[in-house]
Amino acid sequence: MANNQPKPKRHIPERTCVACRVKRPKRELLRIVRTPEGTIAVDENGKLNGRGAYLCRQRACWERALARHILDRALRCTLTSAGLDTLHSYLVNLP
Ligand SMILES: [Zn+2]
Repeated sequence: MANNQPKPKRHIPERTCVACRVKRPKRELLRIVRTPEGTIAVDENGKLNGRGAYLCRQRACWERALARHILDRALRCTLTSAGLDTLHSYLVNLP
């Protein structure tokens, strides 16, 4: 099955950042996933299974999400310290 032609981009999927509630093209956001194993991962390629929530690539949104427990609610779980560590270590690299 040949599929070398890029698809026409008529529709750009949008997602809402759970911290600032701004809608952006999916690619501009980062997806946080609670995997079926219960761990928290930053899904840079949008390929991980699990319940996801989107955040801007801005530290402010991440800090806000963590401070207000927005991710806990969005992911329907309580973030473990391991999960928080994952997010914090990612957060420090954001602008
Ligand atoms: Zn945001």
